[in-house]
Amino acid sequence: MTAVVQRVAEWNRFAARIRPAEVVGLVPTMGALHQGHGALFEEAQKRCSLVVASIFVNPIQFNQRSDYDFYPRVLEEDVAFCAARGVDYIFAPLDHEMYPEPQRVFVEVEDTSEHLCGRSRPGHFRGVATVVMKLFQILRPQVAFFGEKDYQQLAIVRRLVRDLNVPVEVVGVPTVRESDGLALSSRNRRLNAAERSLAPCLYTALLVARQLIAGGERNAAAIKERAIQVLQAIPQIRVEYFELVDPDTIRPVDVVEAPVRAATAIWIGETRLIDNVYCEPRPHSPILPPQDIALPHEPHDTSNV
Ligand code: AMP
Repeated sequence: MTAVVQRVAEWNRFAARIRPAEVVGLVPTMGALHQGHGALFEEAQKRCSLVVASIFVNPIQFNQRSDYDFYPRVLEEDVAFCAARGVDYIFAPLDHEMYPEPQRVFVEVEDTSEHLCGRSRPGHFRGVATVVMKLFQILRPQVAFFGEKDYQQLAIVRRLVRDLNVPVEVVGVPTVRESDGLALSSRNRRLNAAERSLAPCLYTALLVARQLIAGGERNAAAIKERAIQVLQAIPQIRVEYFELVDPDTIRPVDVVEAPVRAATAIWIGETRLIDNVYCEPRPHSPILPPQDIALPHEPHDTSNV
């Protein structure tokens, strides 16, 4: 049975009964759950004896009021989703439970937050880091699970626990994709049929970058240009960024000398989509032209897990 907890005091009563031997795993989410979240629950169940899913649409991480207002909220469906997967607890606080008074203390992860999505979404990662820290304080997990789908967020949380000595092990979980390569996302529901049919190009462009890197190309500008061409070939798509970044610091690189994360954000109509893949250079390999891209196989980056 999945218990739904909406108040901190109520959680504290449950927590008092959790035996010291239990390993509590937290999967923070904003709800509208799909199989991407499901993969996080599965990983949590492998490593932990008790799994808590938090479901909270965090107002302080949204830059646009309309984005926050229209974020899907389907708690009943989410409860059924969690129950079917054996999640032990859902922590689904109301806004005033998380923010009973205006928040005056924020967690700012410098540098890591400033690249990629941080450039176009000021304050977003401050909101994310702050709510993650609050959830850690309230729920006291030993392990927390985050998707590589939001790779910059994962890197920020890793840095947060390192710099603030937070006793939580952070585990990254590989991105779950549709059969055509599109990463599962709650935002995919906003795409109409025509937009949905264009969306896999996001992954295709990332695979072009990965293949160029595996083929020996080192020049980031040249790689980005080729990948962006794939996206710009589709007039309905607007590219916000395409970058090759250091997997730990998220700083863009000019020369690919070590594994990087290729990351991109695009707009299709009114919907913003992000995705990223792990890319590994093969030392001393000759430069090869890109081959036909096979979807959707993705080797798992184990370097950070
Ligand atoms: P969200 O509910 O969108 O805030 O996502 C909650 C968690 O699920 C985050 O750690 C995401 O990175 C992760 N997640 C979302 N989509 C996927 C996916 N397709 N594959 C793996 N993890 C995902």
